[in-house]
Amino acid sequence: MEKLSNYINGELIPPSSGNYIENFEPARGEVYSLIPDSDENDVEKAVQSSKVAFESWSKTSKEERSAILMKISDLIIEHFDEFAEAESRDNGKPLALAKRVDIPRASENFKFFATGILHFASESHFMESGAINYTLRKPIGVVACISPWNLPLYLFSWKIAPALATGNCVIAKPSEITPYTAYLLSKICIEAGLPKGVLNIVHGFGHKVGAAMTSHKNIPVISFTGGTATGKEIARIAAPMFKKLSLELGGKNPNIIFEDCDYEKMLKTTVHSSFANQGQICLCGSRVFVQEGIYEKFKQDFIQEVKNLKVGDPKSKESKQGALVSKAHMEKVISYIELAKEEGGTILCGGKQLDLSENGLNGWFVEPTVIEGLSHDCRTNQEEIFGPVVTIMPFSSEEEVLQYANSTSYGLAAILWTENTTRVNRIAQKLESGILWVNCWLVRDLRTPFGGVKNSGVGREGGFEVMKFFTEPQNVCIKYE
Ligand code: NDP
Repeated sequence: MEKLSNYINGELIPPSSGNYIENFEPARGEVYSLIPDSDENDVEKAVQSSKVAFESWSKTSKEERSAILMKISDLIIEHFDEFAEAESRDNGKPLALAKRVDIPRASENFKFFATGILHFASESHFMESGAINYTLRKPIGVVACISPWNLPLYLFSWKIAPALATGNCVIAKPSEITPYTAYLLSKICIEAGLPKGVLNIVHGFGHKVGAAMTSHKNIPVISFTGGTATGKEIARIAAPMFKKLSLELGGKNPNIIFEDCDYEKMLKTTVHSSFANQGQICLCGSRVFVQEGIYEKFKQDFIQEVKNLKVGDPKSKESKQGALVSKAHMEKVISYIELAKEEGGTILCGGKQLDLSENGLNGWFVEPTVIEGLSHDCRTNQEEIFGPVVTIMPFSSEEEVLQYANSTSYGLAAILWTENTTRVNRIAQKLESGILWVNCWLVRDLRTPFGGVKNSGVGREGGFEVMKFFTEPQNVCIKYE
């Protein structure tokens, strides 16, 4: 069976412990490769190598860094099919989705920051009293990038690329549930000529590798994307060490649909925003609020569309939905469907695990599920499920729906459907979310600030925001009179 390697000091090497973790293929429910079960010794090796590499990498010109990141971006495209097939196999997502979204975006992330660094400028502040200030933006050192399993290479590269572009060295840990494309990336980095130690990829469990990175005294910056509970644990350890933290956490996003929306466009996009990637995107709209005048029509049409979503082999072009990422995650999702029933919800469609074993697929499939009849404040509507499950609820007024929308502890994204621009502006100001999509979903300009409020996170990624995060500002004040 194939054994994946850590990427430390420019080389592909086994974990210090010699131990490996089983890597499952979610659609087949079978182990298909082995991942390094790394520990603090591997993290230590990575930190030592990054510390040495930082001495030179932080002094390379932005043009040199840009050229290498461009090369990585190009190599991902050269190996496009290999990456897409690996992502689909490792995560359970449809191959078509990996080809349309995950892999192009991973390449784009490197390209975006390769060019972004060439335009990244700092401020100066002139004083009439005869002094001038300018801000230096220095690379910080060895930074940690920890990412989740839902969009593996997409989110991994979204952190790594800006950290490297700004002159830092990186210790990165993909989720141990979806390590494969990170492993392929390490091979690409070697091919691209990335100097040794500039990027180290250490595979393994969060509670071992992730925890060792979080608590390491020579890693002053942590960029984390994952669940809110893990974010809280990282903050608990990192805060007393005064580490710089970026936390992109969970969501329970409202999708608010007014009667005056463009109905056909809304319906098509709402199916997508509810169930893309089996609902395992932090930005999915899992609470669908529909104004009462179109509620019944929406309900019928939506259920019809959802029933047409074919769940099946991720490799098949016919499949619109693949497998959930792991058995444990599928059990969590099913337990929430049971909870919804206990809380008085009615399952309008789906609601069960899907047995596809006749086709040799012994993995973790769940029917796309729509639930109604729940109050906005029950657990089903307050806690993140992160699967192919949405609730639908009617509302009458703007005030009412705003109260429902803002009632969770999360505040990552929101979706709004209306043709009334005055209402858009009014609601945008009152919605507690870091991102609002109006009459669309997941339209992404990489220059925009990305992140959430409340328990959905701290800080913003994207564009110059993240480049500021990965640099240390130093003000230099010169008196000339
Ligand atoms: P987790 O929080 O379980 O894991 C995220 C990463 O953290 C993994 O690499 C994990 O490793 C690691 N980790 C786990 N424990 C620790 C620890 N004690 N110290 C350091 N690192 C640790 O999240 P999931 O992977 O389950 O991802 C799903 C979550 O991510 C959802 O809540 C989703 O909303 C959120 N998310 C947020 C996004 C955003 O932009 N706001 C985007 C995408 C997802 P391992 O897997 O090995 O345990």
